[in-house]
Amino acid sequence: MVKRETFKDPLVRARVSRVRFPKMCPVCGKETTHTNKVVATQKKTQIFSLGRMTPYDRRRMGIPSPEVRTFHVYVCEDHCLEDGGIMRLRAASTFYASLAFCMLVFAIMLIGSDISLGRPLTVWTGLFFVFVGATMALAYVAYRPYGLEAAFKIIGFDYDLQHVWLKLQNSLYKDAMIGINEMDAELVSWIVRG
Ligand SMILES: [Zn+2]
Repeated sequence: MVKRETFKDPLVRARVSRVRFPKMCPVCGKETTHTNKVVATQKKTQIFSLGRMTPYDRRRMGIPSPEVRTFHVYVCEDHCLEDGGIMRLRAASTFYASLAFCMLVFAIMLIGSDISLGRPLTVWTGLFFVFVGATMALAYVAYRPYGLEAAFKIIGFDYDLQHVWLKLQNSLYKDAMIGINEMDAELVSWIVRG
């Protein structure tokens, strides 16, 4: 089913093979020469098709299959965070959260017996709650969309993968993007999802 979707804040549609990125940070707008990889994986990517297309149709029509695309975007030092780093942080956070959950079961039993026996709570109980608090703080940091992820979002590609659609939060950055890609980028306020 084809669905038309409009955006209040226009998206940028740019030619994949020609697109250039301004030398400024998409998050804060600071001038910069650092680059950061932004990877569009198949999972993240929606293809805007002109109707239903199977991989067989694609091959028959000579349309390239969706694949991983990497864009090198200039990002300032503060907002430069590799995808690998954030993924490791998220994995660690998940590990500690499950550990905290297991400990919670024991802690409730121990605290329950301490209270029923009228014993004062031990220092370990306090430490345990510090640990749970730290785990929750880590999960909050790891799972909130980090700067670049929120400011530079790849919405998807055209059906033939010639154009990429980007959602850019910073309007200065968006203007700069349109400016340096005059022939290869445009603002679009609606898309058709197939
Ligand atoms: Zn920045």
